[in-house]
Amino acid sequence: MESKVKKIGVLTSGGDAPGMNAAIRSVVRAARYRGIEVVGIRRGYAGLIAGDTMELDVRDVSNILHAGGTMLYSARSKEFCTEEGMQKAIAVCKEQGIEGLVVIGGDGSYRGAGDLSARGIPCVGIPGTIDNDITSTDYTIGFDTCINCVVDMVDRIRDTMRSHERCSVVEVMGRHAGYVALHAGIATGATFVMVPEVPSSVVDVIKKIEEGRKLGKSNFIVIVAEGVGNAEDMSRYIQETTGIVTRATILGHVQRGGSPTSRDRVLASQYGNFAVELLAAGKSNRVVGMRKDELVDYDLHEALAMKKEFPMDLYNMSDIISI
Ligand code: ATP
Repeated sequence: MESKVKKIGVLTSGGDAPGMNAAIRSVVRAARYRGIEVVGIRRGYAGLIAGDTMELDVRDVSNILHAGGTMLYSARSKEFCTEEGMQKAIAVCKEQGIEGLVVIGGDGSYRGAGDLSARGIPCVGIPGTIDNDITSTDYTIGFDTCINCVVDMVDRIRDTMRSHERCSVVEVMGRHAGYVALHAGIATGATFVMVPEVPSSVVDVIKKIEEGRKLGKSNFIVIVAEGVGNAEDMSRYIQETTGIVTRATILGHVQRGGSPTSRDRVLASQYGNFAVELLAAGKSNRVVGMRKDELVDYDLHEALAMKKEFPMDLYNMSDIISI
């Protein structure tokens, strides 16, 4: 079927995530396969307003599949949230003949894409964030790489905690979501996982440590999602209360970098191709995602209104087997 659009743009927006490059590559190649021209827009919506674009052909996206970060750079733009900024962005699209836009980013970026779609620039959103906090998909690009990075770091921490029979409180990213903490906690055998979705306190952590100690456990990992507790304060309290030497580690931005896992590369490739398919079919205001291992697309505003259930079964299982 002939494509309804002849030229599309692609941008990355909000926090970067490993796998964004794989998505850009897929968008470019899937578009060129359908005879669609592609422009890369640097620095998200800020670059769109500034007309900071580059033609992208199949060879321009060689050797980026394995690279973390985003070759198009990412940014946040306050100006884009104003009507004036949005009109500038639309004018650039018109000037450059951009008839559709693939937006790779999180919820905020989706909102921007919704506003552009409503003003006549068809947009399709691809979920790209390490936090996995986008409601309309089971998996976002970058989440798998992020949790594998956390697992690698925590395994190293555990080696030294075991040697010295200590406790370690590790703070991980996730903003307002506990997916990174939960998955990494299960994969590293953490004694306790603190997430924003499940109310708990340091008293619960100490209770779990004491239970473990009675059963012969001599080293402890506590994973705390950012925003639910301060790793330094918690460590001090655990040490004072239990007498176990306790250290705090805040993993920070190391979790956002690195070469994407094969899972993220495959996912990003699928999302990129699917987003182009939708634009080529004349669709607008859509987001792509994965549900039960099936590619899905939704109306962007319906997607933003969806609720994501925290996987309590996983959380409860983690609690049972972490003794
Ligand atoms: P992350 O999950 O990594 O934070 P994000 O896409 O949610 O990614 P934001 O900073 O929230 O990141 O949004 C990125 C950009 O999207 C903003 O800088 C802004 O330009 C645009 N944006 C955010 N919210 C809106 C909105 N309500 N209307 C229009 N544009 C928006």
